[in-house]
Amino acid sequence: MAGNKMAGKPNKSSQGETVIRIEAMHKWFGNFHALKNIDLTVKSGEKIVICGPSGSGKSTLIRCINRLEEHQKGVINVHGTDLTSDLKDIETIRSEVGMVFQSFNLFPHLTILENCVLAPIWVRKMPRKEAEEIAMQYLERVRIPEQALKYPGQLSGGQQQRVAIARALCMRPRIMLFDEPTSALDPEMIKEVLETMISLAEDGMTMIVVTHEMGFARKVANRVIFMDAGEIVEENDPETFFNKPKSKRTKLFLSQIL
Ligand code: ADP
Ligand code: MG
Repeated sequence: MAGNKMAGKPNKSSQGETVIRIEAMHKWFGNFHALKNIDLTVKSGEKIVICGPSGSGKSTLIRCINRLEEHQKGVINVHGTDLTSDLKDIETIRSEVGMVFQSFNLFPHLTILENCVLAPIWVRKMPRKEAEEIAMQYLERVRIPEQALKYPGQLSGGQQQRVAIARALCMRPRIMLFDEPTSALDPEMIKEVLETMISLAEDGMTMIVVTHEMGFARKVANRVIFMDAGEIVEENDPETFFNKPKSKRTKLFLSQIL
C-alpha cells in the first residue's frame, strides 16, 4: 500500500512501458457493431485525446478499458492482464484505472470526504484514518479541501468535477480515463477542470481523454485519435492532426468544431 508521502503524486509506472494494448478489438450491442477492429497501444505517461462525432463509439471504447462494457472479439490488455469473461479480479483492474464521467457521478447522500474514502476503505481495505488523510491531500491538490464536509449538491459543477477527479486519484490509479469531463459544465467552470487535468498530465499521469476541447488537446496530447462510426479513422500528433488532417471525415469534423 502506498504511504502518505506519495499521496500527492500519481502512481507512475516506468516511462515507456506499455500499459494498455488493444488489438483487433470489436464490440457489438446486439446486432449493432459499435467498435470495429480497434488497435491502440498506450505507453506509460502518454496522454491520448479521443474526439469524434456523437455516437462514434468514444465512450464505449474507454468503458471497455475498465470493463464497464465487455468486448466480444480481439484483445484488451491492461497492465499485463487480458480482459476476458473469466477475469476474476475486475476490482484490481478498476482500481488501477480511474474514470471521470461527464456527469460527475458523485454519491449525492455522502459528503465530499465520504465520496473520496469509500473505495479506498471498501476496495483497497485501507484504514479510515489513512484514507481520510489521503483524501484530504487530493482535495487540496484539486484546490477544494474546504468543501470536504459538504454534500455534492452544495458545490458548483466545476467543483463537483474536481471532487470526482480527486476521488478517482484516491485509489492511486495508474491510468486515468476521462469521458467528456467538461461538456456538462458552464464555460466559466471548464477552465478550472482543464487546469486540474493539465496539472495531472504534467505530473506524468497516463491519460485517455475523450474531449472536444481542442486547446487542451494541443497543449497536452501526445496523440489525437479521431473516431467515426465505431472506427479509429485517424491518429496523429496534435500538430499534424489539426494542421494536416488526412481523411475527409476528420476534415469535416474539424471544420464543425474549430
Ligand atoms: P460516443 O461516446 O462517441 O457518443 P457511444 O460510445 O456512447 O458514442 O455510443 C456508440 C454507439 O453505440 C451509439 O450508436 C450508441 O447508441 C450505441 N450504444 C452505446 N451504448 C449502448 C447500449 N448500452 N446498448 C445499445 N447501444 C449502445
Ligand atoms: Mg460519449
